[in-house]
Amino acid sequence: MIIVLRRDATEKQLKHIVDKVKKLGLKPMISKGIERTIIGVIGEEDILRVQPLEVFPGVEKVMPVLAPYKLVSREFKSDKTIVSVGGVKIGGKKIAVIAGPCSVENFDSLLKIAKQAKKGGAAMLRGGAFKPRTSPYAFQGLGEEGLKYLHQAGKEAGLPIVTELMDVRDIDSVEKYADMIQIGARNMQNFNLLKEVGLSKKPVLLKRGMMSTIKEWLMSAEYILVNGNFNVVLCERGIRTFEEATRFTMDVSAIPVVKRLSHLPIIADPSHATGKWGLVGPVAKAAVACGCDGLMVEVHTNPEEALSDGSQSLMPSNFVKMMQEVKKVAKAVGRDV
Ligand code: PEP
Ligand code: MN
Repeated sequence: MIIVLRRDATEKQLKHIVDKVKKLGLKPMISKGIERTIIGVIGEEDILRVQPLEVFPGVEKVMPVLAPYKLVSREFKSDKTIVSVGGVKIGGKKIAVIAGPCSVENFDSLLKIAKQAKKGGAAMLRGGAFKPRTSPYAFQGLGEEGLKYLHQAGKEAGLPIVTELMDVRDIDSVEKYADMIQIGARNMQNFNLLKEVGLSKKPVLLKRGMMSTIKEWLMSAEYILVNGNFNVVLCERGIRTFEEATRFTMDVSAIPVVKRLSHLPIIADPSHATGKWGLVGPVAKAAVACGCDGLMVEVHTNPEEALSDGSQSLMPSNFVKMMQEVKKVAKAVGRDV
């Protein structure tokens, strides 16, 4: 249920309604838009049929939200959310490009990649310290040491950092060193992890599960918002299909679909979607043409020696080429990079 307040509703009227909603055992979530304030009501909404809130001063209308996700929906908030990560805005006119290695391997190579990424036009640095690997024998990441390297490299290159959190037990250290917390595809429905990052003050990058529908993905985002964290960015990273020519299949149509259903920004990851560096540029351009608010790409100075995902990593020179191409598409669709 959504309570839309009148344009001229006062703070006192807002407080009165919020108190009433709480008294009824429901959870009010306030969204102050440019035009007006909206209160999302979470809980057993049937009670509102007995206690009609339309009669309260300051209320314009009360509407049911038909979608199973409430706070994430466009019905709850019609204007687009802009998420700010260490000064970088995601969801505005400018497309935010996040670049960096798949895994943090050592400080020197990370710093080199970070500086090249910055020079090439990246707005943020990525890198995994806790890696979700299919094989238990594969490199699992440097853990907290990797977080420290990321923090330092980001600082030296002048880039905010995003890194994956796999386990609730590591949230304190990830919060300490990172500007944004990534929830990976494999953990998109790890509900305890979602609740935990919902309680965090850090922005969250929620990747789409490789076998998840858009509805399930938005429900996962709802877990984060309902726990109080509205700074969520979605990331389409390809889904499983029968096609084997690419690692996954980039669902570009998910971008305009999500933009219609939700106010949250959405970025695209053509690296994990394709699994092949030669396809990263073309798919990045397709995602930008479809209206994505950012890109996440893997960049490595020596992909041959990378400890993970070398085959989909761009050399810095190819990252620069991709950025030049992406810029043209961005301009054509009224965006900047
Ligand atoms: C990553 O971005 O490092 C990653 C592991 O991606 P995904 O969760 O999309 O597979
Ligand atoms: Mn990777």
